[in-house]
Amino acid sequence: MAQASKLYFEDLSYKSFVYPGDEEALDNIKKIPGARRLFRWLIENALEDYLQLENKYYRTLVTEQNYPSVHERVKHCCRVLDCPPPETYLGYSPFFNAMTFGVNRTFLVINSSMVETYTDDELDFVIGHELGHIKAGHVLYKTIAWFIVMNMQYLQLIVPFPLPMGLLLQPLLLAMFEWSRRAEFTADRAGLLTVQDAGVAMQALARFSGRLSVREGEHNLDSMLEQVADIEQYDNPLAKIMLFVNSMQATHPYPVLRLSKLRDWMEEGGYRSVISGEYIRDEDGEHELGPRLFCDTCRVRVNAKRGHCPRCGTLLVVPAEASTNGDGSADDAPDDET
Ligand SMILES: [Zn+2]
Ligand SMILES: [Zn+2]
Repeated sequence: MAQASKLYFEDLSYKSFVYPGDEEALDNIKKIPGARRLFRWLIENALEDYLQLENKYYRTLVTEQNYPSVHERVKHCCRVLDCPPPETYLGYSPFFNAMTFGVNRTFLVINSSMVETYTDDELDFVIGHELGHIKAGHVLYKTIAWFIVMNMQYLQLIVPFPLPMGLLLQPLLLAMFEWSRRAEFTADRAGLLTVQDAGVAMQALARFSGRLSVREGEHNLDSMLEQVADIEQYDNPLAKIMLFVNSMQATHPYPVLRLSKLRDWMEEGGYRSVISGEYIRDEDGEHELGPRLFCDTCRVRVNAKRGHCPRCGTLLVVPAEASTNGDGSADDAPDDET
């Protein structure tokens, strides 16, 4: 689909595409005493710089000079979903994956295999998916979930939790993974809104379950979706328990399940209402990148990217040191930790 024919969702709020239970599952994690503070401390004191250094050591920053076509696609996707473009890096990896990390400096990493294999439209789905994570305020918690998964064996060496403590941590970890899987369904919806083409979105997702870059013409989406109907016919409780246990510590849902959830959202009419302009607007830029400040006239907190206060129209002046957080909250915002 040509970029010129795309719809642009001005002020689109993540609430228009959030998957049921995503926010509730995330709220449950935020309610765990100390969790939010601990995560933020970890990110601000170590992870943020570590991840940025890792980018500088391993990856290529995408700019107008360096892979300008990818740079242009990121900017285009940001225009569709109405959010500021994050720093984007290309990293070498044979695995299909893209990630969004960071708190104060949110960045996007796209693996080389995706750029090499995916069509431009499918790449837009991937970028839109990641922007969905940013808009929905997932990034802080996604960063932590990723860090835990990647470093579990080292964490256990560095922090020798006594057994009861380790047992106490298990519910937190399982809650993190449970939320993380729901967050993927939310982000897939953002990917679909970016490409505005169900076939492209489905084909991008089907790459995770064996859609080849050779013999493309032989791939059949409909018969893949029939697998979902097959899955529903299995009623072996032991097999289901084994699959459940198997997925408990996964950050991503089974790929075929992602296909069917996206199809459900279309069938339920959620996608159509956003496309037809009936969507929830994020007047305050609550869950987007960009510095936050208070309107001088009415004192509401506003995302400075708006330029003007949405309530009274006062021109916003961005101080040089204005800060923002990737989970969508400002430093001066009340901590919702209980
Ligand atoms: Zn994701
Ligand atoms: Zn105002």
